[in-house]
Amino acid sequence: MELNEIISKIRASQRINPEEALVLWNKADFFTLGALAREIRFRIHPERIVTYIVDRNINYTNICLSGCKFCAYYKPPGHPEGFVLSKEELAQKIEETLALGGVQILLQGGLHPDLPLEFYEDMLSYIKNRFPQIHVHGFSPPEINHFARLSGLEIKQVLKRLRQAGLDSIPGGGAEILVDRIRQKISPNKCKTKDWLEVMRVAHQLGLKTTATMMYGHIETIEDRIEHLNRIRALQDETGGFTAFISWPFQPGKNTALCTPKALPVEYLKMVALARIYLDNIPNIQASWVTQGPKVAQVALEFGANDFGSTMIEENVVAAAGVAHRLSIEQIETIIRDAGYVPRRRKMDYTLLEDQ
Ligand code: SF4
Repeated sequence: MELNEIISKIRASQRINPEEALVLWNKADFFTLGALAREIRFRIHPERIVTYIVDRNINYTNICLSGCKFCAYYKPPGHPEGFVLSKEELAQKIEETLALGGVQILLQGGLHPDLPLEFYEDMLSYIKNRFPQIHVHGFSPPEINHFARLSGLEIKQVLKRLRQAGLDSIPGGGAEILVDRIRQKISPNKCKTKDWLEVMRVAHQLGLKTTATMMYGHIETIEDRIEHLNRIRALQDETGGFTAFISWPFQPGKNTALCTPKALPVEYLKMVALARIYLDNIPNIQASWVTQGPKVAQVALEFGANDFGSTMIEENVVAAAGVAHRLSIEQIETIIRDAGYVPRRRKMDYTLLEDQ
C-alpha cells in the first residue's frame, strides 16, 4: 500500500497492519508521523491534560540470576554489593513517598535464586498492613515467571496469592523486544515472549491492570519493534488489561555488556508516534523523561504522548547506566504547562486525583 493510502486509513481511524506500519516508518517524514499521532491523541483525549503520577521505584533486591546484557543494575548471587531490602528500609522509603504526596510504589527486583514465594507474600502483607493507602504496582512478568518456576506453582496460583497479599497491579517491565530471536541474545535467561504475554494474559483475566513496555535500540530491527507492538495490540484486543504503553531506547553506559550507540531523540520521538498510531486500543502513551530528559519528553507530548509517567522519587536502574535526569514535581508541572497543557496527578488506572 502507498504511503498516502496508509495516512488516509489512519486519519479515518482505521487500524494499520505490520506491513503498513513499516511503510509508515520508512517513508513518512518526521513531522507527518508526529502530526498523525497527535491527531489520534486528541481523538482519544480531547482535553489538553497531561497526567503524571507521584510514585517511587523501590528495588527490593539487586541480586539476579538473569544477567541481561543491557542491565547495569544487577549483581550476581554471592556478590559483595548484593542486597535484599529489610522491612525497615522498605517502610522508610514508603514513609518518604507518602510525605511527598506519593500514592504508589513501583516494586521490582532481580530474579533472586533463593527467596521463596512466601517472602514476597510477607513483604506485600507487611506493606499493606502498615500503609493501606499505598498502591503496590509490582513484579514484572519475568519476576512472576521466576516465582512460579521456583515454587513449582502455576502463574495463576502465584498471581492469586500475590494479589491476596496486597499486589494491586503489574508493571510491564522485562518485555524488551517480544521476539525470541532477540531475547535469546540480550537476555537468554529471562522468560520468553509467550511467557511474558501469558503472565499478562492471566493477570488481566484475574482483574489486575498492567502496563506494557518496550526497550529498543539495541540489536533489533524495525520489523522486530513492529512485531512487538503487534503482539501487545493482539493481547489487548483479547483482554483490555493494559492501561498504558511506555517505550524507551536502550541506555548504553558503564557496566552494560551491550554496546550499541544510544538512539537519538528523533528516533525516540518517531517511536512514540508509531506506538500511538499502531496501538489503537491502548489509551495512554507515556513520555520517558528519565531516559530522554525534560526537553525531548516535552516534545513527545506533540508526538502522541499524553502522560509524563512518574515522578521517580527514586530510580536506580537507569541511573546505574549513568543516565541522571532528575525532576521535582514542580519541574514536571512547569514542563507540562510550558508545553500548553494542564498537569494532573493520576492513579495507576489513570483516574485523576482531585485534591492536588
Ligand atoms: S534487567 Fe532485570 S532480570 Fe535482567 S539482569 Fe537486570 S535485574 Fe536481572
